[in-house]
Amino acid sequence: MIEPKNCPRCGVVFLPVTDKICKECVIAEEETYEKVRTYVRDNPHQGLQAVADACNVSVKRLLVYLQDGRLHASEGMDGELTCSKCGVSIRTGRMCERCILDVSFTVKDMKQQAEDRARISGKYHTTK
Ligand SMILES: [Zn+2]
Ligand SMILES: [Zn+2]
Repeated sequence: MIEPKNCPRCGVVFLPVTDKICKECVIAEEETYEKVRTYVRDNPHQGLQAVADACNVSVKRLLVYLQDGRLHASEGMDGELTCSKCGVSIRTGRMCERCILDVSFTVKDMKQQAEDRARISGKYHTTK
């Protein structure tokens, strides 16, 4: 059972079947995205701010596209998108390839560490 709700983008009441925003907004969002994608393809030397101005979208929105991997930074955007872990300039996504590899290792390590810590604190609790 899907409850009708207000579209967070335009406020209209709709049934959130597949999307979090209403159909009108999905179409509008797609159009915006297409506009941005085409503009970046045709103007590869523009920075984020210039693209935002030309396409009438916010820089924040462009960063979301980049982080989601829907948009690849062009030459003009070098340095605008950075790895959330080590800060190097990246073209798409949230982290550079090295850090992505790193994280997949670290997650395993962290799990191990958490288990170790749990064991140690467990000891402390029992000796108290
Ligand atoms: Zn809407
Ligand atoms: Zn990195």
